[in-house]
Amino acid sequence: RKNVETLEFQSEARQLLRLMIHSVYSNKDTFLRELVSNASDALDKLRLETFRDKDLVADTSDLHIAIEVDRAERTLTIRDNGIGMTRDDVIGLIGTIAKSGTAEFLQKLKESQDAASQDLIGQFGIGFYSSFMVADKVTLVTRHPRSAEGVRWESTGEGTYTIEDVADAPQGTAVTLHLKPADAEDHLADYTSTAKITEIVKRYADFITWPIRMAAGEGDDAEPQTINSRKALWARPASDVSEDEYAEFYRHVSHDWNKPLETIRMHGEGVFEYQALLFIPSQAPLDLFMRERKRGVQLYVKRVFIMDDCEELMPEYLRFVKGVVDAHDLSLNVSRELLQHDRQIQLVRRRLVKKVLSTVKSLMADKPESYATFWREFGAAVKEGLLSDPENRDAILDVASFASTHDAEEPTTLAAYVERMKDDQQHVYYMTGDSRATVENSPHLEALRAKGFEVLILTDPIDEMWVDAVPGYGGKTFQSIAKGQVDLETEEEKAQAEERQKDFADLLAWMTTALGDKVKEVRLSSRLTTSPACVVGDAHDLTPTLEKMYRAMGQ
Ligand code: ADP
Ligand code: MG
Repeated sequence: RKNVETLEFQSEARQLLRLMIHSVYSNKDTFLRELVSNASDALDKLRLETFRDKDLVADTSDLHIAIEVDRAERTLTIRDNGIGMTRDDVIGLIGTIAKSGTAEFLQKLKESQDAASQDLIGQFGIGFYSSFMVADKVTLVTRHPRSAEGVRWESTGEGTYTIEDVADAPQGTAVTLHLKPADAEDHLADYTSTAKITEIVKRYADFITWPIRMAAGEGDDAEPQTINSRKALWARPASDVSEDEYAEFYRHVSHDWNKPLETIRMHGEGVFEYQALLFIPSQAPLDLFMRERKRGVQLYVKRVFIMDDCEELMPEYLRFVKGVVDAHDLSLNVSRELLQHDRQIQLVRRRLVKKVLSTVKSLMADKPESYATFWREFGAAVKEGLLSDPENRDAILDVASFASTHDAEEPTTLAAYVERMKDDQQHVYYMTGDSRATVENSPHLEALRAKGFEVLILTDPIDEMWVDAVPGYGGKTFQSIAKGQVDLETEEEKAQAEERQKDFADLLAWMTTALGDKVKEVRLSSRLTTSPACVVGDAHDLTPTLEKMYRAMGQ
């Protein structure tokens, strides 16, 4: 044995493993999906690497996944001849969890009840560690084409793992599960049954584009057979694909075990042929607002996986949209640089964006509950598009909704707001703040309330940004009730106010001097009804929330 080390799992990994070992999650079959999905990714990666690096020595003539069952030893092996891992890869990828959001995930898990936490497991996509739901020991043997030697990793999932070099490892990775004893109470099926394995593969991995092979019987005469149909869902007629198949494929591309909120199919013909299968999730991921967050659209060329996270196909504000775009007229070794400058890709992206927004618009009309879910989960991200995508600004405003003084619970669309506007009302009034309560308790709201005007209550940080950039909606401009002069008066009232201003001139001048540098000016106000005084920002000043944001960023 060479170079043997016993290493400790990183602490977050340890916590996740403990969770897997003691999991009461009833759907343990899903471990196989995770392992097959990793094998499929490894084959994709190897093919891409050989396109990019002509000197890489690897056999790509028969890339596939093999599943082997040993009933006597009670082991199940998932083998691929893909990219494999170096020793450092194994330590970095299997011994630690680099995924962003892990800390938050563990925190949430602590706070939630047992049953709910099992759903979170699905949402987080536990991956390789899910092996420990069904196995009490896992052995992984792997070799990367750039390493002379292979690596053997083994663990019971309890605190430590061992790692050593092996001389004769074949290309790719083999994961061997030493299965726990089958036990009905533990929801453990018999994973040494080839019928059971075939059923799981068909349910979860039928669309995997690589062949998945397994020998049906035992003994020497048992020939491995391909058990998945390998049909790309997006290439099949829409009427042919069941909702369950879409849901399963969605899980594959998104690592989210919830059902998607909406499925979108598109295709383009002519100069640039493409097929797209997109999903709007029903729940925002934990890391939706984290900087390193990836976008969810994969690029395929003629059924061949090219890249994850294809930002050329989906703008950042729609980063939660998942799915696949299969383009027929690109080269297999297309690079990000090439994509960035490809006019056809830009056209496809514009169409995808319009289609996503129009899908949300039809949700509004046809499935109000789905729409409400959508906006609650993703509204704050979509509003970023008001700044970054002027071309679709109106379409975004059309599908947006906002909290409002009109209703304490239900948000309103802008169209509904405009519908309720008073005859002489020129502006869409809004106030920004860090919570509904802050805004509602603000003295700024008093005068508008008194006069019966509706005010939008904007509490997302992004609201501070777009309200200044977006000129208006339906011919009405947005007007902050906390900035400058809010024009609520008739001509007569204005004349009276000017008179009063003269009457109080001495007092106001004295107050201005007394307050010194703290204020620019002291004015009589027509906006207050019960509070004696309030502080008002200049029309071009930063709002208090923005000021706080900039200060937090150190500016
Ligand atoms: P994820 O697939 O979401 O990244 P996993 O826990 O399933 O998380 O896998 C962690 C990482 O380990 C993968 O990203 C991959 O780099 C590596 N890995 C797992 N299985 C394989 C495999 N069969 N071949 C090569 N690398 C693998
Ligand atoms: Mg995985």
